[in-house]
Amino acid sequence: MARDLTLWFVMHVLAPRKEIIDIPGYLATTFSGKGKGIYLREVLFPESLFVNIENYFAEENKLKEVYFAAKLFGYKHGLISHLPTLKNGRKEFEIGYKMFNKYVSTIFARRLDLEIDYSTETFHYTGDNFIICRKNGIGVIFTGGMAGLVSYYLSKNAEAKHVYCQGRGDKLCEWISKPLSNDTSLFEKISVSPDYIKINKNSITAKRAEYLSLKDAINGRLFFYKEGTLSYKNERHIIWEANIFYFLDRYCNAKLLFESAYNAGMGIARKNNWSLELFRLYLSLAGVGLPFFAENNKKVYVYLKGYPWTELAKDSTFAIWRGFISGCLSAILDRRVMFNAYSSSFGREGVFEVVFKEQ
Ligand SMILES: [Zn+2]
Repeated sequence: MARDLTLWFVMHVLAPRKEIIDIPGYLATTFSGKGKGIYLREVLFPESLFVNIENYFAEENKLKEVYFAAKLFGYKHGLISHLPTLKNGRKEFEIGYKMFNKYVSTIFARRLDLEIDYSTETFHYTGDNFIICRKNGIGVIFTGGMAGLVSYYLSKNAEAKHVYCQGRGDKLCEWISKPLSNDTSLFEKISVSPDYIKINKNSITAKRAEYLSLKDAINGRLFFYKEGTLSYKNERHIIWEANIFYFLDRYCNAKLLFESAYNAGMGIARKNNWSLELFRLYLSLAGVGLPFFAENNKKVYVYLKGYPWTELAKDSTFAIWRGFISGCLSAILDRRVMFNAYSSSFGREGVFEVVFKEQ
């Protein structure tokens, strides 16, 4: 099974270039099914980042915020991926969700199975070696995402519960999701604008020798893929569509997001003894744009050219990446770096850019 998954990943994801991983600063998934082109702008990040976010929100009794944000993300993920819903008929729906589960398990788990009881519209997911919750027994980001995705599948408002978890000592991870009501007003405002593809494609740049792509890193064995796990020096990594950062940013406590990301960044930078140069290369393959660091009056700033854009970009505080990069730089420069200022704009050729600064 595990070997199968690696082969599947190579044959169906890497080889046909469904996953675009050879451009520094930019990661995306594209494939076309039934005349609908699928395009997802993605970001690569260490598992410890989301483990930390969940732990900090659990500590402050604010996991509900994370669940809610992830739920809206999950719904949007169904929409943006053009996944068939039950309204498309059971046959088409089943082909769609099976394909999607297989895709998810290539990065998120060793295994992800789904059984559906159509009479009660109950979704029963079983997972093995699942990201995030295996470390903290929480997994609320995935659970919320599942509630949103099942809501999308059913065109209803569904909730999900993580009933068993390997991170809590159970044999496997299990989730149950079922509809709560037919009221879908929660999702009414979620839409995908044509700008999403247009703007993000502007981020595709010519190959530059001073940056790394994820493909370079996998070829050079800096990143390693095996059995549903993508790792960088023992740290598991996740590739997720960029909206997750924007939804968490909009609906969760900004200070907690910043702090938890800051400490995750500091942890990974220290563990790997990063130099600024190594960190710059790492960032360039994470898909958050091409990074430029600069200093002005002893204050550092970072400029990310081609940062992922979504409909939520306008009001974003970018708390997670601002915090994560602040934490990394604090470890690297051996002083407290706090990017408490930020701005975003469209540069030449419509490239979306963000700047994080020390104030
Ligand atoms: Zn779990």
